[in-house]
Amino acid sequence: MGSLIVTDIGELVTADGSGVGEPALGLVHDAEIVVVGHEVVYAGPRGGGPRPADLPPPVAIDSVDGRLVSPGLCDPHTHPLWAGERTREFDLRNQGVRYAEIQRQGGGILATVRATTAASDEALIAGMRARLHRMLAQGVTRCEAKTGYGLLPAAELRLLDLLVQAAAGQPVSVSPTLLCHVPPPGLSPAERADLVAALAAILPEAKRRGAEALDVYCDEGAFTLAETEFLLRAGRAAGLRLRCHAEQFTHTGAAERAACLGATSVEHLEQIDPAGVVALARAGTVANLLPGAALTLRLPWPDARRLIDAGVRVALGTDLNPGTSLSESLPLMMTLACTQMGMSCAEAWLAVTIHAAHAVGSSGRLRAGARADIVVWDAEGYREVCQHFGVPLAQRVYIAGQLVWEAAPGPAR
Ligand SMILES: [Zn+2]
Repeated sequence: MGSLIVTDIGELVTADGSGVGEPALGLVHDAEIVVVGHEVVYAGPRGGGPRPADLPPPVAIDSVDGRLVSPGLCDPHTHPLWAGERTREFDLRNQGVRYAEIQRQGGGILATVRATTAASDEALIAGMRARLHRMLAQGVTRCEAKTGYGLLPAAELRLLDLLVQAAAGQPVSVSPTLLCHVPPPGLSPAERADLVAALAAILPEAKRRGAEALDVYCDEGAFTLAETEFLLRAGRAAGLRLRCHAEQFTHTGAAERAACLGATSVEHLEQIDPAGVVALARAGTVANLLPGAALTLRLPWPDARRLIDAGVRVALGTDLNPGTSLSESLPLMMTLACTQMGMSCAEAWLAVTIHAAHAVGSSGRLRAGARADIVVWDAEGYREVCQHFGVPLAQRVYIAGQLVWEAAPGPAR
C-alpha cells in the first residue's frame, strides 16, 4: 500500500462545502490531496496534510502545476450496452422526417433491440467497454448503466449478466440498473398484462445477479402510469433502488408517483408539472436531467432553474444511447446545462458530483475517508470546464488512488 500526493493544485473542487451554489463546491486554492492506498486522507490547503516522511512508502508525487483538480465525475444515467447503429435515423430526423416514418423504415429503439439480440456476447461486452473507456477520458469514474434493449424478461436478464461482465475489471465503476423500456409492439391487452407480470417476477433474480436499481419508462408508447406503479412496487419489494423515465414527451404524472414511492431518481422531466416538482423536493428524489436527449431530439430544455429553486437535487447525465443521445461526454452536458438550462457553473459541477453520486449510492466528494477518485483538468478554474466545450479537458484520472488514464502530453502551459 503506497501513498500519493497531488500537489500544486491551483483550484481544488472538493464538493464538500455547505449550502447551495458555489459554497457547496468547497473550493480550496493552492491545495493538495494526500492519498494512502485507495483512500483520501487529506484534501485542503497545501502544507496542511501529513508530511511525505510520515506516509507509507513508496510515495508518488503528482505536481499539477496550478491546474484544476476535482472528484471523479459520476454519470447517473446511461444505456451503454447495445449493438448496431442509428446514424441514418439521426440524419433523417434532422431533415424533418417524423418518428413514425423512421420506425416504418426500420429505425428507432426496435432497431437497436434487433441488433442487440443478434449480437454475440463478446461483441456486446467489447462495445460497452469501449464506451466506458471514452467516459473515463472525459473524467468520469463512476456511472449508472441500464439494460433495456432486450424488452422480454429473459433477454433483459441476459443483458444484465453481460453488463455485469463488461463492468468487471474496468476502472470506471458501474451501478447496474434493470430497465423496463417499452413493451414490444403488437401485444394484445392480455399479452401485455402477462409481460408486465413476468417483468415484475424477475426482479428478485435481477437483484441476485447484480442489479442495484429498477428503472421504468413511463410515456406514450412505453409503459402506462398504472403499469409503471405496479413495476416500481415490485422493484421496491425486491430491494432495488427505483428510477423512472418520466415526463419526457408527454406529462403522465409518473414523476410525482415515483417520488411518492421513494424513487431515488427520476429522469428527463421536460414536461414536469408543479405538483411533480413539489413531490420531488419533498421526497428528496434526484432529478436526472439529460440535455443530450433534448439537444438531439430538439425537445424543450429541462427547466433546471425551476427545479433547483424549488429545492430539488438536480443531477446531469449523458443518457448515452445509440439513438437519442450518442455521447459519453458529461462535460458537454455541463456546458448545455449552463447555456440552455439556467444552471450556474457551480450547480453544473454539483450535478455531476454529489447529486449524481447520491443517485447511484456513492459519495462524489473529496475528503478524508473518501475513495480517491480524482481528476486533474487541463484548466485553471471550475468554470472553464463548463465554458470550453467540444474538446477533452481531463488530463489525468485516478481511481481508488491508481492512475488509470492520462492524456497524451501537450505543450507546457
Ligand atoms: Zn434514458
